Amino acid sequence: MEQNDMNANNTSTYEKLLLIRYGELHLKGLNRPFFERKLIDSIHKSLYGIKHRVIRENGRIFVTEISDNDINNAVERLKFVFGIHSLSVAITVEKDWQAILSACEHILENELNSHKNRTFKVFAKRADKKFPMNSEQICREAGHEMLVRFPELKVDVIEPQIKLSIEIREKAYVYANEIPCAGGLPLGTSGRATLLISGGIDSPVAGYMLAKRGVELSAVHFFSYPYTSERAKDKVIELTRIISAYAGEIRLHIVPFTDIQLAIYEHCPEKETTILMRRLMMKIAERIAKNDDALALITGEALGQVASQTLESLCVTNDAVSMPVFRPLIGMDKNEITEIARKINTFETSILPYEDCCTIFVPKHPVTKPDVQKLRESEAMFDFSNMIEEAVNNTELIVINNYGGVSR
Ligand code: ATP
Ligand code: MG
Repeated sequence: MEQNDMNANNTSTYEKLLLIRYGELHLKGLNRPFFERKLIDSIHKSLYGIKHRVIRENGRIFVTEISDNDINNAVERLKFVFGIHSLSVAITVEKDWQAILSACEHILENELNSHKNRTFKVFAKRADKKFPMNSEQICREAGHEMLVRFPELKVDVIEPQIKLSIEIREKAYVYANEIPCAGGLPLGTSGRATLLISGGIDSPVAGYMLAKRGVELSAVHFFSYPYTSERAKDKVIELTRIISAYAGEIRLHIVPFTDIQLAIYEHCPEKETTILMRRLMMKIAERIAKNDDALALITGEALGQVASQTLESLCVTNDAVSMPVFRPLIGMDKNEITEIARKINTFETSILPYEDCCTIFVPKHPVTKPDVQKLRESEAMFDFSNMIEEAVNNTELIVINNYGGVSR
């Protein structure tokens, strides 16, 4: 009885913290401190407005000093941070065996009260080799003691519902279960690239995939007012805002494209208009990318999806620029792309029914196997250089920052 009362008093004083796992970074050898610094930067940015402290210790990052009221919000935001593979809400106690057992009891009590889970297994990591019990002893003794304290619990070593974990480091950390996070590499560890973003399903997914590998984004949208409406532009802004929750600040450039489209339709062969339009988009995007210190372009193209995405068409599009063009969706089917779009929350916005500039003026019989030399000649039928210059100069810049899913 006395023992129970003591535990009850202890529960209110347990210090909660977030234990962050960042699996892939250990592969990066000498770059590791750089990657860790970038990850810590991302954590600070995503927790903007929440009091916290970040501590780094041997392959783990801890976020401490968060108030109980802010913990859930912090977890939700950190789920978006690239480079974090999983996290756990842990409590920390001194490396005293009885204190550790009380902490285990507290964690299990919470689990039993909030879920129907009744099977468990104990996991232990002993980073501090001076601790008198080894991992196996910790698991065995703690498991035994918890079965005594909670008769309704059962051990399941194959598929436990509750993974009770004890880590012995500078202090002891106790937690149940891991929350899966976004994975990938920390933002800013792979340079910057410029995303060509339409209002469709594909391009936001393409941007997400590069950002996941640590690439910072800027974005370009070609806007054909009045053929496309203000609402179509708002849709692109909203899509950029959603991606920015993962990708950090994005400079979105809205390029006035109507005059160029009209000139293409007036001066060039009808069946080549789409592919010529794509070449001019790439040229303008490359100019903007260079201004943004970006090293590559990103599109949402997938092989064979439409006439402008056959292998021949993609070669003709690439020929318009010298920067590398990344197409992370190249080998995907539409349903695979849609699945990711749903996961990252862009799908519902992407399917809003506002037209984009590729769906108007579509030729009846577009070329599907265009020839590079022939397309260069068609493009030369009109001198687009002044119009390109003008489009770049009249571009509207919108800076969007919704990192961690927080509107600022
Ligand atoms: P999405 O679903 O992203 O619109 P899509 O399947 O409709 O792609 P297209 O319209 O042919 O394909 O466009 C292919 C790619 O070209 C897009 O993924 C995007 O990267 C780029 N793109 C198309 N239209 C625009 C636009 N108006 N502004 C900027 N980029 C565009
Ligand atoms: Mg499109």
